[in-house]
Amino acid sequence: MKKLGFGCMRLPADGSGRINMEVLNRMVDTFMAKGFTYFDTSYVYHNGNSEKVLKEALVKRYPRDSFTITTKSPVFMIQSQQQFFDIFQEQLDRLGTDHVDYYWLHAVNRHEYATVQKYDLVGALQKLKAEGKTRHIGMSYHDSPELLDQILTEHPELEFVQLQLNYFDWDSPFVASRENYEVCRRHGKPVIVMEPLKGGNLSALPADLTAKMKAVDPDLSVSSWGIRFAASLDNTYMVLSGMSDEAQMNDNLSYMENFEPLNAQEHAVIAEVQKAIRATMPYQPEDFRKAEEVCPKKIGIRRIVQMLNERKAVVNDGKVVNTPVYYDIFLDGYGKAADCDHCGRCAGLVKGTDVPDLLAEADQTLKNWH
Ligand code: SF4
Repeated sequence: MKKLGFGCMRLPADGSGRINMEVLNRMVDTFMAKGFTYFDTSYVYHNGNSEKVLKEALVKRYPRDSFTITTKSPVFMIQSQQQFFDIFQEQLDRLGTDHVDYYWLHAVNRHEYATVQKYDLVGALQKLKAEGKTRHIGMSYHDSPELLDQILTEHPELEFVQLQLNYFDWDSPFVASRENYEVCRRHGKPVIVMEPLKGGNLSALPADLTAKMKAVDPDLSVSSWGIRFAASLDNTYMVLSGMSDEAQMNDNLSYMENFEPLNAQEHAVIAEVQKAIRATMPYQPEDFRKAEEVCPKKIGIRRIVQMLNERKAVVNDGKVVNTPVYYDIFLDGYGKAADCDHCGRCAGLVKGTDVPDLLAEADQTLKNWH
């Protein structure tokens, strides 16, 4: 199977959110004509419309065995196992099919994992699989490598893991693309990559970084580097691209139709780009260690500073990065920025920075960052 999946979370739509079926039909036709077959949707994409329009554009127009569909259970809404099954049936109805090929628990993290355990949702997935209503089971995941290792140890029945993975987040302490990828590999679980372009932020880079890429091959787009970085990993099963128009699709198909993994020279360019992006981050988290140690509110100052770093890193042609950061999860067990009561104990401990002021900025910037 070709390694590019059609992510159906940012479909072509007008300002009011209405999906343009004419364009979508053409995109599905182009995708299928080039030999791509993997479609990824969920219960919540486009406020529930993604599954419905996939029925019109794909399921009604192509033989069921010519494509595969992944959809996801909204674990964050589940309050009983029966509700899980009811929603699954609703999804089949929306899609107009009697089975899906892949069914994931959507956006599992430490909070949702409690729900998974409480209602035995892995057992419920296995039941659907045994009944032939899904061919494969897995989860999409956003949390630490430690928790991922725990979940895959406790539930080896899960066959696939969908991860946020891109060259920006590769060594991020919160997204932890690399470490999570390695946990999956250790457990023998193929990875489906989401956000290979970090929500479009890696589709345009500052001019000097773009020039480095164009020097290797002027015909390859900046986006191609992110998609190919993810697809070049040997344990990557599929790379999802949320294609919103025909131009994006045509670009993606141009290098994924006959996919070539990154070569050594191209890997070196990616490493240079990663380093250059890191150099635009304004803070050194370790400069804040002493402030954190004296803070009576146990505020996770270094973690907050690192999150601000990622928010302020210069990518996307100089615009700010704007994809979800899992603020509450990464500060689990620590005080939040808003807990600062200006007690003054950290005064003077960070040269050139007023910590309470920075925390006030972080509170505004990060808590609504999604
Ligand atoms: S001023 Fe705020 S950040 Fe500094 S020690 Fe006091 S509570 Fe902690």
